[in-house]
Amino acid sequence: MPKEWLAEDLSEQYVADYKAFNFVDGEGVRCSLYLSGCPFHCPGCYNVAAQNFHYGQPYTQELEDQIITDLSQDYVQGLTLLGGEPFLNTQVAIRICERVRAEFGHDKDIWSWSGYTWDELLKDSDDKLKMLSLIDILVDGRFLEDQMDLTLQFRGSANQRIIDVPKSLARGDVVIWDKLKR
Ligand code: SF4
Repeated sequence: MPKEWLAEDLSEQYVADYKAFNFVDGEGVRCSLYLSGCPFHCPGCYNVAAQNFHYGQPYTQELEDQIITDLSQDYVQGLTLLGGEPFLNTQVAIRICERVRAEFGHDKDIWSWSGYTWDELLKDSDDKLKMLSLIDILVDGRFLEDQMDLTLQFRGSANQRIIDVPKSLARGDVVIWDKLKR
């Protein structure tokens, strides 16, 4: 149901993990921030511990500054937000996205995973829409075990899509990432 879950009610602003310089959470070398808490509870979830909104450590200014320092390396393409559910931790997600834009403009890209689908996000709360306006790529939708396919790029089940967010918002319809191979 739209607006059933809100970051202002659920988020503890906790971080499950931060992985600098990885090659698996999107295109190129990336720095990945895992935000804690996800109420979708998909069977077969890849990160069950991070379903708990109080898992891990509080987000801090020190971590944010470290992320910015890591992103400033020439070989790093961008930031990735995962979870848990980034769109139910928008206090942190919007803050780091705005800092990335302030520091790097669009020289670094921002990918986010979400259990919400594109259509669900468009009908949801203002903070989710604001976060959508700040990112470049959304990998959308719940993980569905009966559609699991480990050969897909950057996603676990066939219902999930790699969406070009700025193009989709401009067109008013989903535009799939133009580098999608499978
Ligand atoms: S949406 Fe993602 S993080 Fe949330 S329960 Fe499903 S697989 Fe896990």
